[in-house]
Amino acid sequence: RQGTVVITGASSGLGLATAKALAETGKWHVIMACRDFLKTERAAKSVGMAKEDYSIMHLDLASLDSVRQFVDNFQRSGRPLDVLVCNAAVYFPTAKEPTYTADGFELSVGTNHLGHFLLSRLLLVDLNKSDYPSKRLVIVGSITGNTNTLAGNVPPKANLGDMRGLAAGLNGLNTSSMIDGGEFDGAKAYKDSKVCNMLTMQEFHRRYHEDTGITFTSLYPGCIATTGLFREHISLFRTLFPPFQKYITKGYVSEEEAGKRLAQVVSDPSLTKSGVYWSWNKNSASFENQLSEEASDPEKARKVWELSEKLVGLA
Ligand code: NDP
Repeated sequence: RQGTVVITGASSGLGLATAKALAETGKWHVIMACRDFLKTERAAKSVGMAKEDYSIMHLDLASLDSVRQFVDNFQRSGRPLDVLVCNAAVYFPTAKEPTYTADGFELSVGTNHLGHFLLSRLLLVDLNKSDYPSKRLVIVGSITGNTNTLAGNVPPKANLGDMRGLAAGLNGLNTSSMIDGGEFDGAKAYKDSKVCNMLTMQEFHRRYHEDTGITFTSLYPGCIATTGLFREHISLFRTLFPPFQKYITKGYVSEEEAGKRLAQVVSDPSLTKSGVYWSWNKNSASFENQLSEEASDPEKARKVWELSEKLVGLA
């Protein structure tokens, strides 16, 4: 049978390119889980996705109510869940002040990590029920959370510290809006959120892989310097970043190519290994990459998991 894949943030960039790549094979029905219905409909049309290959369901990751509503709607739809891709993200590199989700969490960690954490925890039961030959949960990571790489060492570096800010709710009222309890820094908040994404994937693997057979993975798709992720950046940066990545770091990858990479992690029969962080070399062959010390620390993973459970109302 056709597989069903849910992709968050499929209205642009990597998510859209992946949706297109999977829909094109005819083997997948793509559920585009997005906050803006019209934008998503236009995006799907603009890349030529056929009507029968996708559905759009509303999801705003910056609201826990919306996440729960999405799960409810999905479960009522009667579709199986074979693969879930947590892809959506926001990035505020130039913000001077933090902004917050509906539940009062700093917006980048709230959206990129906490919204996805609740979503994937609630949908685990559906993944588990699927009779698809290879069911998977993919959480998109980033090199920026890897302090063992050159790009991961560009300041400000990711660092979760003792997670006092996360423990206190990241709400900027009686606590800091940053996980480590420090001063707000939008670029760092994004990197921290990506470390949480990669730690969450590994904790899922440790807790659930053996019993469920679900493959839990993360990936760094390459530097897709042209996506909307950089929309909040100053215009000079937006002009110079793509050529810089193309010609200097050579880490540049087109949206189309990155979409094919993520589509591989979703569906390639040879990529069933769980607990892995995939990357690609210059010839676009996938390999199992090393994570930084912090992004692979099992103690931190457990702590992120437990604190996040409390914040999203699961504990
Ligand atoms: P885009 O900005 O193009 O896409 C981000 C997507 O997330 C959009 O569809 C956006 O929706 C959605 N989104 C944002 N906030 C919410 C929300 N509250 N609820 C639901 N959806 C939301 O960026 P990319 O395609 O570049 O990013 C995709 C993933 O790739 C991210 O996880 C990012 O960290 C990762 N990544 C990107 C790299 C790059 O170089 N670009 C490198 C490494 C990793 P909307 O259209 O409504 O704004």
